[in-house]
Amino acid sequence: MGVMNKYICTAIPYVNGDPHIGNALDYLLADVWTRWQKSRGVEVRFQIGTDEHGNKIAAKAESLGLTPKEYVDGQYGKFKEMASLLGASWTDFIRTSDPAHEARVQEIWKKLSPYIYKGEYKGWYCQGCEAFFSEKEAKACGYFCPDHQKDLTEVSEENYFLRVSDFTDAVRDAITKKELEIVPDWRAKEFLNLIKDGMPDVSISRPRRSLSWGVAVPDDPDQVIYVWIDALSNYITVLGYPSDDGSAAGDFNDFWPADLQVVGKDILRFHAGIWPVILMGLGLALPKKILVHGYITVNGGEKMSKSVGNVVDPFKIISDFGVDAFRYFFVRHIPTLDDGDFSDEKFLSAYNNELANELGNLVSRVAAMCQKYEVLGDLTDESLRATFLEYSGFETTRFDDLMEACKFSESLDYVWKLVQGANRFVEDNKPWVLAREGDNDKLTEVLQTLVAGLLTIAEYLSIFMPATAAKMREIYDISGAISSVDVPLFAKKIISA
Ligand SMILES: [Zn+2]
Repeated sequence: MGVMNKYICTAIPYVNGDPHIGNALDYLLADVWTRWQKSRGVEVRFQIGTDEHGNKIAAKAESLGLTPKEYVDGQYGKFKEMASLLGASWTDFIRTSDPAHEARVQEIWKKLSPYIYKGEYKGWYCQGCEAFFSEKEAKACGYFCPDHQKDLTEVSEENYFLRVSDFTDAVRDAITKKELEIVPDWRAKEFLNLIKDGMPDVSISRPRRSLSWGVAVPDDPDQVIYVWIDALSNYITVLGYPSDDGSAAGDFNDFWPADLQVVGKDILRFHAGIWPVILMGLGLALPKKILVHGYITVNGGEKMSKSVGNVVDPFKIISDFGVDAFRYFFVRHIPTLDDGDFSDEKFLSAYNNELANELGNLVSRVAAMCQKYEVLGDLTDESLRATFLEYSGFETTRFDDLMEACKFSESLDYVWKLVQGANRFVEDNKPWVLAREGDNDKLTEVLQTLVAGLLTIAEYLSIFMPATAAKMREIYDISGAISSVDVPLFAKKIISA
């Protein structure tokens, strides 16, 4: 097994709707981590995909006069498109309606059979949520789903169950000992508190009459596999588990366990509860870490809603401001491990003050001085970089620690010390004064340090804003040739009301 291989996976969105900002955040955070690993010479498998079975899909397809398969075939590409538009460097896209995935899910079911039993399921069901409510939950909402404005129906049926309860202690142990580390830590505590009285067994199938669009239970065609084993298993089936001879071979061996799983806070309980149980049942290692991100609110804490008309549209922001401005704002100004807030004003202020002024102007200004004074020469001297890092108060180990802790917003904040350092360096050394005084040695040293600084900034920005970093490297060639900046990196924007 190559120690230089790493594997990151993202939650697979349910394709009954269009991609939204939450999906974008998954892709973006996973991409930042991936680019960081690659910058250290690590090979990364980066999975994304779509969850395509279930009643809501079937109902949606029917309402459009399509078969479920026709519907999902027309839908999954939107998620792929968003990931690509974001510049996410994913390697694998998995769809749960892929025949190879479906076959592997059935094999996984068979392997889990020692922990599966048939029982009677009684509960309150909402078709809209495609979920059961416990008696307690159903009572609390008056047997009425507030999200779908529908009465819950009482359902009693034969289901297969997974013995999740048998694994409560093992799951609790793994999380407490950080064999399965959940970041931030308070989310781990929250989850441990949720399972303090144990985890209940979960229903993992439905009779075919109540769930038609899904994978058949092996050797019991009247039963269809309900979401958990189908959807969660994508993280391993995409690596080819189990292989044809039933073993854990090839890519799976090279990349599993996942080094990081990125999930939104609403689905942590499945990824910290049911998913580890499935893996333990299969005798497989658990993911090393789960990154839990929060929600994005708007305009100082409002919940996004279509009816209010305040939904943040990633496609729109990218088309207006470019992908790197999007990446920049959502990595730096949304705390990676908590909820964050978006508003047009905040976005515009970050764009104009930080990207256009602090970074864009700096890049143009230094390039113009280098061309004007023509004193650049050899830039291969490593000490220039060291001088710049020290001047800016930047420690590379501190940056890596923040990345390791999945605090990407703080990491990018920290990189900005370099941008601010370079601006300060210009003001402290005033190259135009040195030129006027004819102090060419000092002028050369100052400009060389600045260029080494900008190349260092580009190196770190390549993790967060790859297109911008590439442009900076085009402008500042290590050989000392500087191209002029005809178009500013981030042109200032004024939004009229
Ligand atoms: Zn509902």
